Formats: sequence, C-alpha cells, structure tokens
Amino acid sequence: MSRYDLSIPELTELVTSWGEPAFRAKQIWQGLYAERPVDPWASTTLPRSMRSKLERAPEFASALRLAHTSTSDRDTTVKWLWELHDKAQIETVLMHYPERSTVCISSQAGCAMGCGFCATGQAGFERQLTSGEIVEQVIRAGAEAARTGRRLSNVVFMGMGEPMANYANVWRAVERIQADIGLSARHLTISTVGIVPGIRRLASESLPVNLAVSLHAANDELRNELVPINKTYPLEAIAQACEIYVSAKHRRLSFEWALIDGVNDRSSDASELAYYAHRLGAHVNLIPLNPTPGYLAQGTSGNGVRSFAGRLLAMGVNVTVRRNRGTGIDAACGQLRASVRVGGSVRPVALGGPRSSLDRVGPERPAPDGLVAQVQADPVVASS
Ligand code: SAH
Ligand code: SF4
Repeated sequence: MSRYDLSIPELTELVTSWGEPAFRAKQIWQGLYAERPVDPWASTTLPRSMRSKLERAPEFASALRLAHTSTSDRDTTVKWLWELHDKAQIETVLMHYPERSTVCISSQAGCAMGCGFCATGQAGFERQLTSGEIVEQVIRAGAEAARTGRRLSNVVFMGMGEPMANYANVWRAVERIQADIGLSARHLTISTVGIVPGIRRLASESLPVNLAVSLHAANDELRNELVPINKTYPLEAIAQACEIYVSAKHRRLSFEWALIDGVNDRSSDASELAYYAHRLGAHVNLIPLNPTPGYLAQGTSGNGVRSFAGRLLAMGVNVTVRRNRGTGIDAACGQLRASVRVGGSVRPVALGGPRSSLDRVGPERPAPDGLVAQVQADPVVASS
C-alpha cells in the first residue's frame, strides 16, 4: 500500500480514524495529484501536525525510491530506475517529442511471458505492480515534464511487464490517470502480447484507450517460437478479439513488429502481416530489434527495414518505423530490465539513493535513414 493506492473513500476513512475532519481528505487528494508529488504535503492548507502525521503514516509513503536516472537523445529521453518497498526494481521512460511528451510505464516487475528477444522476458517474472505503483510513475513523469516546461500528454503501457496479465491493477490505474491526472483515454495506449481474455475485457470497458498488439509474426508456427503465449492464444483468436475491440471502441488498433534479421523480415512475412492489418484496419509499427543480452539474432538493417516497410506500403498498409529512442541507455523497447549501462557494459545497479546523479551515456543509435521515425505511441505514417 502506498499513497497512490488509496481511493477517496479509503483516504477519508483513514483521515477520520485519526480524528481529523473529512474535508482534510480532499486537501490531501489535491496535494497528491498536484504537480509537486515528491512533497505533496507542502500545501499550506494542511496544518503542521497533519503534515507530520502524513509523513509518518506508511499508507502515505511514496512507492518509488529513485535508484538511478539516465538520459540520452540530447536529454529528450529520461529513464528512471525505481526501487520498490520490497527491493523489486522497475523502470519508467519519459520521451519528449516536438509536439508531445510520452511516458512509457511498467505494469509488472518482470514478465512471465518469456518472449526470447525481450530483456524483460529474459529476466522472468517478479511480481505484479499495484495500481498505486503504476500511477506514481505517471505522476513522477508529469512532474519532470513540468519542471522542464513541458506537459505530459501521452501514456503508453510499453515498459516492463504484460499489462493484461495484471488487468485489475492496470485498469484501476487507467481510471485514475484519466479522472485524476486528467489525461484523456485517447492518449493512453495499452500494449499486449495478445492475451485474448484481456482484449475482450478491454472491449467492454467504458474508456476508449488505444490498443497495440505485439504481433512480430503472422503465422502461428513462427509466432509460437517468438512469442510462446501464442500457443495458448493463437492468431485467429487474437484477430477475433481485436475485431470485437475495434467495433466496440472505434479506436485505432496498432500492431508492433520487432524486425529480426532473416526471421520475420522476409516478403512472406510482410504478406502475412498485411492480411491481418487489412482485416483489422490496423496500423503497423515497425521496430528494428533492439539488442538484448540474451538473444543473439540481429535487428534488420536500415535497408531491410526500408524494403519491408515499402512492401507493406505497396500492399496498402499504414506503416511507421519507430525510431529507437534510448538505445544507449537500454531504455528502448524490450531493453528494460533494471540494469544500468556503464561504459558499454551492463552491470547490476548499485543503489545511489534519491539524489543519484544524471548519467549521460551513449552512443545513441541513429534511426534508419530516410524513414520517418519518431514515435513511441502515436505513430506518423512513413513517407517513403
Ligand atoms: N508486454 C507488452 C508490453 C511491453 S513490451 C507487449 O509485449 O506488448 C513493449 C514492446 O516492445 C512490445 O511491442 C514488445 O514486443 C517490444 N519489444 C520487446 N523486446 C524488443 C526488442 N528487443 N526490440 C524491439 N522491440 C522489443
Ligand atoms: Fe513480456 Fe512484452 Fe517482453 Fe513479451 S515482449 S516478455 S510480453 S514484456
């Protein structure tokens, strides 16, 4: 339990159990969701005695202790490594673009889905995050954006973990982000490896969030290898669940496709992908595979990415190539697993306490030439 796990009724009950008037709960709530989250009790409307109670109460503790911060892409990408109360570690990445600022948040410590090319999958599952641990990542990112004169505009569940395998807490966090942080559901994207019951449940919710499905292969044989959970939820079941989602929500669906050299970047892969993209009206995001310690295959070359994108475009598929943000600090897609890169090697983190300094690390990997390549969450259609 931490400060962002509490609902207003729970908070009111707690405050009144201390003998305080119920209206204090509203003041505390305002402090929590205001833009100075590290010290939300600084509000002058709270009496000093109340503030010191809040500082001591475990229910009001912050969930995230900063263990490390790294920046790259000329400070437009910031990655935080947080330590949780039980020493579990998670990561959050904030990315500034000219027209928006997007935070990529974690939904679990680790992941049980076992996709071999993903650093989080390689490390295995540790535990579910609470809704408060999820919400606080957004609060911290919002505060950092505000500190640099920016406004946090988008949230993507594309950090560590599989959001649909922690559905209840993820959904509670979505509601809080929408209602209390004030970001519209249209600016929230949930990325899933294809957990069919989760997609179906999402279709029945009232808030229309964006859905991204990490496809990576569009035939079951290859997908069973790349994404083992495909054996439980094969492509046809995913496609049917997505059809329900699209017709219920009228939100655009996107497919994520990490391009792996010689594995899923052949012309037959493009044709198979085009079938599902057409059937579901989906937008395709191509991500050249980012390197991870436990997977030897290479990402597709710049030329290979261009020709794969070109094939899809020729078949009438909307496609974007996602620029690799934060590769130099292991903050790019699939590289998150609570480690700090120092001098080119990955080592376990030595916790530096809340004041750990900003690292500047590199080199940064450029986007493949000539292709539009910007986005984490709302893609721009490739122009070539
Ligand atoms: N578990 C969810 C969300 C987190 S992963 C999911 O899989 O969708 C976020 C995105 O990064 C997914 O599309 C995932 O497939 C992709 N990804 C994982 N490892 C990657 C890698 N090494 N290179 C590029 N993308 C990767
Ligand atoms: Fe988990 Fe997504 Fe990584 Fe697969 S790609 S192991 S589902 S975080």
